[in-house]
Amino acid sequence: MSASGAADRWDVLIVGGGPVGACAAALLQRALGNVPRPLRIAVLEPNRPQPVAADLPLEARVSALSRASEHILAAADAWKLIPRQRLSPYERMSVWPKGVPARSPRALTFDAACAGEPNLGYIAENRVVQWAALAAFEAAGGTIVPAVFCRSRIAADHVEVETGAGSLTCALIVGADGACSKVRECAGLVAHAGSYRQTAIVANVHTTLAHERTAWQRFLGTGTLAFLPLADGSSSIVWSADEQLAALLLAMPQERFEEELLRASDGVLGTVKVCTARVALPLRRMAAERFTANRCALIGDAAHVVHPLAGQGVNLGLLDAATLAQCLCDAHRLGEDAGAPGPLRRYERWRKSEIAPMALAIDAFNRFLAHGAGPLSGLARRGLSWVNRSEEVKRFFITRALGLAGELPAAARAPAALS
Ligand SMILES: Cc1cc2nc3c(=O)[nH]c(=O)nc-3n(C[C@H](O)[C@H](O)[C@H](O)COP(=O)(O)OP(=O)(O)OC[C@H]3O[C@@H](n4cnc5c(N)ncnc54)[C@H](O)[C@@H]3O)c2cc1C
Repeated sequence: MSASGAADRWDVLIVGGGPVGACAAALLQRALGNVPRPLRIAVLEPNRPQPVAADLPLEARVSALSRASEHILAAADAWKLIPRQRLSPYERMSVWPKGVPARSPRALTFDAACAGEPNLGYIAENRVVQWAALAAFEAAGGTIVPAVFCRSRIAADHVEVETGAGSLTCALIVGADGACSKVRECAGLVAHAGSYRQTAIVANVHTTLAHERTAWQRFLGTGTLAFLPLADGSSSIVWSADEQLAALLLAMPQERFEEELLRASDGVLGTVKVCTARVALPLRRMAAERFTANRCALIGDAAHVVHPLAGQGVNLGLLDAATLAQCLCDAHRLGEDAGAPGPLRRYERWRKSEIAPMALAIDAFNRFLAHGAGPLSGLARRGLSWVNRSEEVKRFFITRALGLAGELPAAARAPAALS
């Protein structure tokens, strides 16, 4: 590649083809790649996943996708590419703190039927969602450049980008390169980051009792333990524990770890057999002060990272992707350049106002429900039983779990194309 060739000049360059970057690319390519005055869109992604055979064992890195995310992935034409055998609908969520027996009336349960919905969302493997979104982007005529982003220089009317395979230019650079975003760093966008001093242990497990298409989560006082129901009857666990406890749990022989899982889960799914390696993920929070700079936008984990206890990271990121795509489509219709400041400002205002309260709420859940034993934690636990008593309050939370609250981009509201 060289900066001189027309082939290396793009209107929009998305750095990072993770689930969020790939979905933004597919939405944009479908809406603006084949219109009069089409935009030239490329994704820079060095680690493209291979297609997954439908009968391969399920991976442990999964996400709970909301209804809004389902709609966005459908608008990107990616949803139909995810093999049904690898998608697990979950119909209920059961949450209970230590001291409350599992499956007792005091455990807080959200049921999709209560909101007239068939389910609350789907559990899907991250790499399968990523693969489907990249495949949809390519099928719509997009280009994936298999190279790593090294640095960029933002000029008044274009951006110069150096990659591991040469240089290129674009009118707009989109940083979708995850929590340690180099695009963010090169654009000089400040990020406030901190450690939760917790590690998430992730693995797949078989249990003697059926998961009943329910996402189970226990607040332990030292963190949270979640069992996410998978399509093959197994469950994906996410055990977020303080760093020292996590180190002990990771060092344990498998049988001892399984006994600890049984104890921590209060036996809600019977005895537990771990069937994949245990993966350790240090947990951090991060919020970029600004989501945009001149000719640059951040989406997904490049812009914000939240605690996984509410299963919101990729859902927020897909809403970023759909919002940015909508702002760029509206601007394109008005004849504006892809890197014009107006649509970027609109995107930033829109998403910052939605993400800030969500990030605050997730941090409060972590601090007062998952951890701590002070008076505020006691109050928060009493709050759970109050929520449990009111169908109306439950519906309020279900709408949020479905991702259908707040100011939504059109693609999140209904599974229709953007244009
Ligand atoms: C334990 C755990 C459980 C979670 N569970 C959920 C859940 O249930 N629901 C949910 O919504 N979220 C969940 N999340 C959060 C979710 O995993 C992330 O929010 C999501 O992966 C972010 O997607 P992304 O595309 O923004 O970034 P990433 O997935 O990090 O993708 C970034 C991409 O950029 C590429 N890249 C990086 N650097 C460069 C470079 N220099 N050049 C080119 N490309 C580059 C990478 O190869 C990668 O493909 C969970 C997180 C954790 C830790």
